[in-house]
Amino acid sequence: MLSTIDDATLTKVAMAMGEEEAVVLVEHLKNIDETTDDEIANTTGIRLNLVRKILYKLYDHSLVSLRRTRDPKTGWFIFHWKLQPDQLEGFILSQKRRVLEKLTVRLEYEKNHDFYFCNTLGCKRVPFEDAVELVFHCSVCGKPLSHCANEHLVARLSEKVEQLRNELGE
Ligand SMILES: [Zn+2]
Repeated sequence: MLSTIDDATLTKVAMAMGEEEAVVLVEHLKNIDETTDDEIANTTGIRLNLVRKILYKLYDHSLVSLRRTRDPKTGWFIFHWKLQPDQLEGFILSQKRRVLEKLTVRLEYEKNHDFYFCNTLGCKRVPFEDAVELVFHCSVCGKPLSHCANEHLVARLSEKVEQLRNELGE
């Protein structure tokens, strides 16, 4: 099953977990059938607390499964984790949909507004309505605002939106 998921995809998913160490952890899980948090911490060198944090995040998205047993000696629970590669595709699709939604909103905003800019590094573009309010002067640096073309940005966003729609079959 794992062979259907390429490494780049796995890395992307791990990065979506928001922790750098998640990439290492997922790599590790990929090569093992089932394992415990202790074993992952010992082998990868990632702090046990962080290992658990990442595992629970993955678990929230059903990307790993969890099985509990009791240690016969200590009576404590042992958690056994396993990567769920068949869930990865669904997760990636929902991530892509979220990105597509955001990009579509951004694209519409860019298309429907005229922007003005002072050409100062670190200052922000403002839409026409705000530029009028400011009598065409930047509220941060005071320099005059001039029209700022966004055709390139619109083209790039359109391309990305189109690509995602294709990938999602929409
Ligand atoms: Zn400025």
